[in-house]
Amino acid sequence: MSEGSDKTGILWVVATPIGNLGDFSARAREVLGQVAVIAAEDTRVTGRLLEGLDVPARKVSLHEHNEARVIGGLIEQLAAGREVALVSDAGTPLISDPGYRLVSAAHDAGVPVHTVPGPCAATAALSVAGLPTDRFLFEGFLPARSAARRKRLGALAGRSETLVFYAPARDLPDIFDDLAAALGKERRATLARELTKLHETVRRDTLDALHDWVGNDPDQQRGEAVIVVEGNPAGAPEIDIEALAAELARELPPSRAAKVLARLSGMDRKEAWGVIEGVRR
Ligand code: SAM
Repeated sequence: MSEGSDKTGILWVVATPIGNLGDFSARAREVLGQVAVIAAEDTRVTGRLLEGLDVPARKVSLHEHNEARVIGGLIEQLAAGREVALVSDAGTPLISDPGYRLVSAAHDAGVPVHTVPGPCAATAALSVAGLPTDRFLFEGFLPARSAARRKRLGALAGRSETLVFYAPARDLPDIFDDLAAALGKERRATLARELTKLHETVRRDTLDALHDWVGNDPDQQRGEAVIVVEGNPAGAPEIDIEALAAELARELPPSRAAKVLARLSGMDRKEAWGVIEGVRR
């Protein structure tokens, strides 16, 4: 593709364990051992994972704050025919983790992107939650502040799909409080904490009962957690955001339309402004 190379490299997106090193797959080790460069969220964390393995690759740090800046160099390497692996600290890259811009840039540059699938906290939690999995909505992390969190949850209250949230376990009492207030105390949910680790806990109950349980047991407030919540059984109609935005943009000045859209959808104002701008083009 460039610099005299007629061979394009490969971008490998490699999943790593979410706790238990036994889940580090043979294929993930093989690929990490063969690439020229490993783009890692935190090179020290990945260095520890690779300790004892013969991995000659140069490690480059790629995180939320420098992703845009380091992509150019990585695409150059790929264009010169080298293989690059993308890993995050734990689990599957891009799932509430950096990497989207790099993968997108690789597609733009015509570089093949291959997956080495493996652990992901969201799918691991869904698989043990005992709640419907035919349709689910991955929400990742909720806003940190309770007011914004309740607003977002309010927008999700009518969704019929199973909802999946990431959370640091220390925030569980507050989050379950907001979940019960926004979605109803009796809604069923599963807390999946410290998956694949020594203190793995999977418990299904109502939101109210889970709130009391984590509140009364400080051990449940340690580590990392996924909350899986049953969808609204009444299956309230979903809002077609694009159609709503188009209608608002037709009837109202843009800033007013964005304000109303933010209120009805639970998006923040900036996000709503982007959607309104999109439908006006
Ligand atoms: N990319 C990762 C994945 O594939 O799951 C997720 C990265 S995100 C920054 C970290 C969050 O994932 C944690 O705050 C927690 O919500 C969830 N998580 C990661 N490991 C977990 C585990 N072993 N048990 C439960 N949740 C976990």
